[in-house]
Amino acid sequence: MQAAPAVHKDSLVLALDFGGSKLVAALVEPRRGKIIFKTRQERLPTANAQRSLEQMIALGRRVLLEEQLSGNALLRLGVSFGGPLSHDRRSVLRSMHVPDWEIFPLAERLEAAFGCPAFMDNDANAAALGEWRFGAGRGLDSLLYVQISTGVGAGIIANRRLLRGAGLAGEFGHMTITPDGPRCVCGKRGCVESFAAGWALARDGRTALANAPQDSLLRKLSAGDPQRLDARLVCEAVRQGDPSAAAIVDRASRALGMAIANAVILLDPQAVVIGGGVSRSQDVLAAPLTAALTANLPPMFQGRCPLKFSQLGGDETLLGAALLNQ
Ligand SMILES: [Zn+2]
Repeated sequence: MQAAPAVHKDSLVLALDFGGSKLVAALVEPRRGKIIFKTRQERLPTANAQRSLEQMIALGRRVLLEEQLSGNALLRLGVSFGGPLSHDRRSVLRSMHVPDWEIFPLAERLEAAFGCPAFMDNDANAAALGEWRFGAGRGLDSLLYVQISTGVGAGIIANRRLLRGAGLAGEFGHMTITPDGPRCVCGKRGCVESFAAGWALARDGRTALANAPQDSLLRKLSAGDPQRLDARLVCEAVRQGDPSAAAIVDRASRALGMAIANAVILLDPQAVVIGGGVSRSQDVLAAPLTAALTANLPPMFQGRCPLKFSQLGGDETLLGAALLNQ
């Protein structure tokens, strides 16, 4: 048996993921897609940009300490951020979910803290890269990656490259499904995200709870506390047979399926890969989502583009961030 190649310290990347509700730091060997050490922390509910940055720097230093490395032993930093970035991908334009991230020079601040170059992209683009290189999209030339987590986003691989447009390509979550639909975090109404994001499922769960009978599963699972009703719990209620939760997931799946179908018609990818925290409820989502996708594709697209789920168990974002090098 051939021995695994030794890890050279100068080939290591510190990958940082600023999510909507969590911060994650990991030491990654990008050539093999191997996570050597990973640690995560819930983002402080009160944290603004500066405080989140300090939390992340501390988290990154903890990773280096664990592996007895200093910043100059790193090849680079790979940074995933849950929101739109400036055209040069050096600054955060804003976060839809965390206050105070307006025009924040994140790459520069991280380079100063760790003493090595930092490369950034938004979370869906990073995850698309990770899934394409190491997961469900391995070997394909084109791929649509759809992320369902706190928000909804997408990353597009076309001709073996990440499609960035003028910088904001893949802001899939804000495509309009119903012009008079629910209010979205972006200020519009009826975006994909306003039906299918983690926050939208939680909102619909709370509404259902307010109208639920005393013996309902939603009430039992949340102990009657609306604050405990998140997307994961709504999906658990579906699993256990709650009809109001099933209606919520059906509506979200119809919106998502319609938007994915539109994107498939536009891009003709070889596969669609679904990832992100909410997608861990694959057993609940796969059937209604597949049905909605099929219903919205014209005959020439039927059976052409398989719908897959992430194979990297949530690590796709960090693995993709570690691949960023320009
Ligand atoms: Zn929106």
